Amino acid sequence: MKKANHESKTNRGGVEKSHVLGLFKNVQMQGAQKTEPRGVYGYTLSGAVCSATQQMSVFQQFHSNPLIIPVFIMNSGCPHRCIFCNQKITAGNFPLKITKEFFDSEVQSYLAWNKDKSRKVEIAFYGGSFTGVDPAYQEELLSWAYSFIQKRLVDSIRISTRPDYITENNLPVLKKYGVTTVEIGAQSFIDEVLQFAQRGHDAAATVEAMIILKDHGFQTGLHLMAGLPKDTKEGFIHSLDKTIELKPDTVRIHPVIVFNGTALAEELRKGEYKPMELSDAVELCKLAWEKLSAAGIRIIRIGVQLTPEMEKDGAVLAGPIHPALGSLVLSSIFYDRTIKLLDKVPPDTNELRFSLSERDMSNFRGLNNMNISAIKKLYPRTNLIVESNIGQRRGVISVATESGKSFTLSIPGIN
Ligand code: SF4
Repeated sequence: MKKANHESKTNRGGVEKSHVLGLFKNVQMQGAQKTEPRGVYGYTLSGAVCSATQQMSVFQQFHSNPLIIPVFIMNSGCPHRCIFCNQKITAGNFPLKITKEFFDSEVQSYLAWNKDKSRKVEIAFYGGSFTGVDPAYQEELLSWAYSFIQKRLVDSIRISTRPDYITENNLPVLKKYGVTTVEIGAQSFIDEVLQFAQRGHDAAATVEAMIILKDHGFQTGLHLMAGLPKDTKEGFIHSLDKTIELKPDTVRIHPVIVFNGTALAEELRKGEYKPMELSDAVELCKLAWEKLSAAGIRIIRIGVQLTPEMEKDGAVLAGPIHPALGSLVLSSIFYDRTIKLLDKVPPDTNELRFSLSERDMSNFRGLNNMNISAIKKLYPRTNLIVESNIGQRRGVISVATESGKSFTLSIPGIN
């Protein structure tokens, strides 16, 4: 079944690399509905309020990922503070110490809110170094999560931690309580970058951690940052290449944002740190998508999860923060691929009929239809028709002309 949208003709114009820019200022930040659980907070691309979960679905829909119930442990287990880290701003309003009452109500609110009961559900301990947490507290947290698995309300548990806190000794407790996935904050594979970021570990620690985790049958995730002090585009590519060698199941990419109360904020004030422009962050994230997808590695997040704390005056000092950075990256990838597809189509074509999966439609169109506008500038006298095709595979763009010629390409990593 197809739904078609006819696009009107327009004057020719140049397609700018930076056509993604300038949209952020049109996006109004609004708080989430009170009925939604903590952490369910975000923004639509058009400015209306939506949930962070909907926002995350930009990625999750590509991979049918589980519903993740995040529980932030607020730097518990961290031996010191990395220069970019301020969990009070990035985690949202979580208590410093989680009680059982708080934990249960947090999980229950997500379970009540979740409408898709067929979807797998995971409890995730984020925002600290889980395997560095005091063993008694660690076991408490895991046992509370495990009780939801026993009641068949939750399917699995994931944790995130530092690479140097993965040893043979701290894995049995994770296994005992059904932890299936361990995400590692690698951030970079360049020792100088890690040292300046005050990470307290080197790149070799990440390699070692991944070997241990894989040996013990855990699913693995790596976190990478783009735009760290002393890093470069080449350095980031090196980190991507090392990531590909390690073959994690998933990767999260976080372009660096400067938050108040961090050592990086001081670097910024002294003029020692220059944050990335949004356009550069989009380009690096696109590069990451291209390389990692080609290697069969799933990217499950691009950019920070927005929190109400980020809206407060002076909380975010600088950096490529955007309410829908992942969508910017994906719509830019869709645009590039569409232009490649149109290489074979002459500019005097009377009609272009695009066909895509319904679920790719928003990324194909781009924020505020910017991709469609850019295509119209290239084909000013052409009738553009965009059809959503329920039977079409994700990531496949097809285009047909009035003469019956048709062209198709597939974007890796979207399925
Ligand atoms: S290890 Fe992670 S949670 Fe802990 S201070 Fe560093 S970035 Fe923050």
